[in-house]
Amino acid sequence: MEALVRHDWRVAEVNALFALPFNDLLFRAQQVHRQHFDANQVQVSTLLSIKTGACPEDCKYCPQSARYKTGLEAERLMEVEQVLERAREAKAAGSSRFCMGAAWRNPHDRDMPYLLRMVQEVKAMGMETCMTLGMLTADQALRLADAGLDYYNHNLDTSPEFYGEIISTRTYQDRLDTLQNVRDAGMKICSGGIVGLGESANDRAGLLVQLANLSPQPESVPINMLVKVQGTPLAQQDEVDPFDFIRIIAVARIMMPTSHVRLSAGREKMNDQMQALCFLAGANSIFYGCKLLTTANPDENSDMQLFKRLGILPEQRVQKPDLMQEQALHEVMQAKRDDAEALFYDATKPRSKQSQLGSLRRD
Ligand code: SF4
Repeated sequence: MEALVRHDWRVAEVNALFALPFNDLLFRAQQVHRQHFDANQVQVSTLLSIKTGACPEDCKYCPQSARYKTGLEAERLMEVEQVLERAREAKAAGSSRFCMGAAWRNPHDRDMPYLLRMVQEVKAMGMETCMTLGMLTADQALRLADAGLDYYNHNLDTSPEFYGEIISTRTYQDRLDTLQNVRDAGMKICSGGIVGLGESANDRAGLLVQLANLSPQPESVPINMLVKVQGTPLAQQDEVDPFDFIRIIAVARIMMPTSHVRLSAGREKMNDQMQALCFLAGANSIFYGCKLLTTANPDENSDMQLFKRLGILPEQRVQKPDLMQEQALHEVMQAKRDDAEALFYDATKPRSKQSQLGSLRRD
């Protein structure tokens, strides 16, 4: 039976999912996952910080807030050409979506012409576009949508009850209003949260209830594991239990059966086994590239190695404006996979072949 998309989830019911034995929960999540997705495909996005630091907001986890001394060097909005150059690199590395993030409370009207050009030109390269710029007015959302922006990221972060412990400079309702403006403008929504802020189990369930009960549900749901940065108020938080994190992925998958559930910040801390279990639990999107806004992300090659070991292929874009471009992307990914293959010692191959592989590695 096909998993229904529901918008009437309650916290108690979600807590009951969390309480399932681990194997039962993962089995159920995998069953739901296979009804809507190819279980061996993972969507790959690249994230670029187009304007870093000096943000006036006070999100306690964020090294980009101007209120915390994290040693992060603030940068102005990048030149359009620089952004496009990075987008070309991302495309060549196999990304199907290019996400551009700016550390702002909201974009100013003077920034809009630059942002619109970035969207138009990245889109013209044949990639999906995503931006995260803070709060958006209805008019800004419409202008970005008209320029061709596919996705807008704006996270709910945590439950409404716990939210005030983490951010005081914008309300939960402000966030919901921005999401509504994005939806009304016809864009897809990327919205998720962060685990490890000091929230309770109820708060984790509460966040997922908020996300799943949006109608329609967000197309993309990033689940972040707190990256503790010295200088931020949350630098000393306890580590998240890896099994708890995998459970959240599984519950998100069950509640939002048609959304892409994304492994986002914190992936650097996850070993291959944990990431593999996250994929089994229904995660089917990752950020690819060496920087996740301002924190480290596993480099491209280690991702390719993991994909190869798990038999995972990068998901191809569904809408194909240019079939030739699509084919080129697939070829790049195949070349990357072959390159990653060269990094493995294959005992079934003769030694001379192995040394050829070794020389490839040094190139
Ligand atoms: S999370 Fe976003 S809004 Fe909050 S401080 Fe960081 S950059 Fe600013």
